[in-house]
Amino acid sequence: MTRLVGGAHSDVGQVRSNNQDAALSDPAWSVFAVADGMGGHRGGEVASALALETLSRQVRATVAPERPLDSVETLVDAVLVANEAVFAEARTNSDLHGMGTTLCAVGLVGAAGQEHIAVVNVGDSRVYVLRDGELAQLTEDHSLVQSLVRDGQLTADEAAVHPQRNILTRVIGVEPDVEVDWWERPAVPGERYLLCSDGLFNEVSDGRIAATLRQLADPTEAARTLVSMANDGGGRDNVTCVVVDVVGTDGPPAAPVDPGPTAAAALAAGLVDPPPPPEPRPRRVTGRVVAFLAVLVLLGGAAVVAIRLWARHNYFIGVHQGAVAVFQGRPDGVLWFDPEVVDATDVSVAALTPAQREQVKEGFTTSSHAEALNWVTLLTTPTTAPPAVTTTTTRSATTTSTTLPGGGTTTTGAAATTAPVAAPAGTPSVTSTAAAPAPAAAPEALAVAGAPGPDTSAPSAPGA
Ligand code: MN
Repeated sequence: MTRLVGGAHSDVGQVRSNNQDAALSDPAWSVFAVADGMGGHRGGEVASALALETLSRQVRATVAPERPLDSVETLVDAVLVANEAVFAEARTNSDLHGMGTTLCAVGLVGAAGQEHIAVVNVGDSRVYVLRDGELAQLTEDHSLVQSLVRDGQLTADEAAVHPQRNILTRVIGVEPDVEVDWWERPAVPGERYLLCSDGLFNEVSDGRIAATLRQLADPTEAARTLVSMANDGGGRDNVTCVVVDVVGTDGPPAAPVDPGPTAAAALAAGLVDPPPPPEPRPRRVTGRVVAFLAVLVLLGGAAVVAIRLWARHNYFIGVHQGAVAVFQGRPDGVLWFDPEVVDATDVSVAALTPAQREQVKEGFTTSSHAEALNWVTLLTTPTTAPPAVTTTTTRSATTTSTTLPGGGTTTTGAAATTAPVAAPAGTPSVTSTAAAPAPAAAPEALAVAGAPGPDTSAPSAPGA
């Protein structure tokens, strides 16, 4: 038999005013997930929380607790239902129009005793695996820069610092249907999975992430430490980490829940070695480029609305379809749909000198459209000195709290310190935790009494 033991932690970071990330820790159903919401004043936190609540509810409807899911399809289908839920909510609530979220998840699937690990992903949150001490990224980001890397227009190192790396090509909730990447891997006891939002890997190197995962045996402590490292590195985004350990167990599972009629069969099956698993197989469909362009058009439309709403007047230089372009919006904003191409040029990035390419990569930003155009003109001349950069910051804080059907609590917002979940055994925790002092509830009070496995959620007081 195999089971999953996890620990989660989420934090608003050092710059953002609210936490639009969310984490799901549902040890009884062996499902763990991270979502990074985007869009609007409160749309992001609604999207991420709604997606994970829906995912959890769907999974729970398919199988009894303490059992692996039937197959990876179960998890993929749950993601599709989550997509529909976020899409429907965004359509019916004008406040939430245009919201979306990333979603990556890990679950235990297959027959009892022959379990596999299912990994699913939409967006640019990531799933890594630590195997024999080596960290490997399993998921592929659905981002503009990743598609440029795939096309050979950017190196991975350039993509990692690109000002438009937050522009996504696939997200949950913006279309009625979504393509879900999935992988199925052997459930190898001792292997450790990391699910995280971009707030982690944009601030902390792979090497330091790997070292931390190797050093800290307790998954909750590891998740918390990684979040602290992201904050120490700048904390420019919300940051969420879920660390999941694959644990082998001999004999029947020590589950307090009704073991059900097939426990004997499961035990017997546990003595049998699982068959060799298939290689990771990301799901692909044709028409990907068409879908990508359609999303870009959609992004442009949303940007107009966003710019009106926030009365932003920012322009920056970037790359659009391989050519230098002037974008309106914020290159690094909360809103992934924010930037819009206002001036395309014929200046191919490939034709630039390395120095000029570097300047484009730095994403010169200005509040003046004329200055941006002037900058592009200067770019095509040999001697170019980038003008001064202007930035603006707006802050606001909101707090919302909803109760899950299963009894768990979702809390998001600047003033909320949460709570990952406590709840009776078997209740999933969906947490989105902001870094505010003075938690309303003591961490100790949140321990899951009588739970089959270790508590997998983490309280969030900074430095606690
Ligand atoms: Mn993020």
